[in-house]
Amino acid sequence: MSTIPEYHIIIAGGGIGGVAAAIGLANKGFKVTVLEQASALGEIGAGIQIGPNAFHAMDYLGVGDAGRSKAVYIDSLIMMDAVSGDRVATLPVDEPFRTRFGNPYAVIHRSDLHNVFLKACLAHPNVDFHTSQRVVGYTNTATGAEVTTESGDVFSGDAVIGCDGVRSKIREMMTGGEAAGDTLSLSGHVAYRAVLPLEEMPEDLRWNAATLWAGPKCHLVHYPLQGGTTFNVVATFQTDVSEVGVNEPGTQEEILSRFGDIAEKPLSLLKKPKNWRRWVLADRDPIDNWTDQNVTLLGDAAHPTHQYFAQGACMAMEDAVCLADSLDGCKGDFHNAFLAYQSARMTRAYRVVLTSREIGKHMYHPSGMHRKVRNEIMAAKSADDWYDAVQWLYGGTGLESKI
Ligand SMILES: Cc1cc2nc3c(=O)[nH]c(=O)nc-3n(C[C@H](O)[C@H](O)[C@H](O)COP(=O)(O)OP(=O)(O)OC[C@H]3O[C@@H](n4cnc5c(N)ncnc54)[C@H](O)[C@@H]3O)c2cc1C
Repeated sequence: MSTIPEYHIIIAGGGIGGVAAAIGLANKGFKVTVLEQASALGEIGAGIQIGPNAFHAMDYLGVGDAGRSKAVYIDSLIMMDAVSGDRVATLPVDEPFRTRFGNPYAVIHRSDLHNVFLKACLAHPNVDFHTSQRVVGYTNTATGAEVTTESGDVFSGDAVIGCDGVRSKIREMMTGGEAAGDTLSLSGHVAYRAVLPLEEMPEDLRWNAATLWAGPKCHLVHYPLQGGTTFNVVATFQTDVSEVGVNEPGTQEEILSRFGDIAEKPLSLLKKPKNWRRWVLADRDPIDNWTDQNVTLLGDAAHPTHQYFAQGACMAMEDAVCLADSLDGCKGDFHNAFLAYQSARMTRAYRVVLTSREIGKHMYHPSGMHRKVRNEIMAAKSADDWYDAVQWLYGGTGLESKI
């Protein structure tokens, strides 16, 4: 028998973090309203890698089986030297990995992942969605918190969660934004993304693996998606960028000029996509507070990260678990529940942010002697060495600081 929810939470942003938080809170008996600026809910046409920790989070949120049914189970994570064309290291993610971490490492189309949460939300009586609602500000009120949208509508509730991504309006209001030093950090890295149908993927690269070709100031990633019928391709390079561009059309010329000095095999893949999309990558320095009374932040709004660890969305799902757990039984004391949530999440999420920066610099893009040293260190590692190195990350659930 369903009960009438006592408390109402407004979520700004319906990306992966927003829908994961919505289902987590709805499952705990909260009424949830999600406000999304886009005219339709969905995700960009690209792939995403998800570690066992994300599947642990999905299990907690009640969508683990649905997520696993849409995923592609790769055999390994492979690092190749893009200059020599040689294999540097392999991290097997087959049965022993799954047994050790209790869930698989997988790749999935972003829309499929988003849909897993969206479907669960749409089937839940406690969740409702409003699209074309761009949040422009929030206020803490005597009884809770409210947001105003560009169209002039006001949505009032007991609490507000900012899940509005790396350019979060909620965060900007909370921290004071750029004027107060909370700026986007441009790494000078640009990512090009494309999805290739199987028949356009070079035959000798149709590997059931997430493969990374590391080159000087550039790297290329590819892996199968959608039952192996398509391949996700992401090419990243370092350059001088001063403006943040998102999901713009990219050119074959720019990509090829940035990957000049690499082996024929990865180069053959770079020549395939006809419809590249281009992103200038940005993260933000850590902050030590995500909460303003009855308002808090989640996912990229709280801890935007570079993609080098493939963990930004995984962290958003873990946040959703921790938030749902922290608010469960809080009896309307959202402020203290949010403080418990942020204290449980911050160190882990920022470890990912800061480690991602280091990986980009020292692991993926070195040249000269630095490249040779990297290869020697990585090639010497056994599967168990790799498993021990990622235990802190893939063994997590989102709740570790609370256990
Ligand atoms: C090239 C690349 C590859 C990546 N690969 C991986 C990977 O393999 N694995 C992984 O885990 N992560 C990966 N990530 C990171 C991952 O994409 C993000 O961490 C994740 O999408 C964050 O989800 P989010 O819901 O917090 O934010 P977002 O996905 O940014 O969603 C925010 C939502 O809020 C909406 N919104 C924004 N402003 C407002 C507003 N004012 N009002 C209302 N709605 C608003 C937006 O339209 C959007 O729907 C990658 C990122 C990049 C750039």
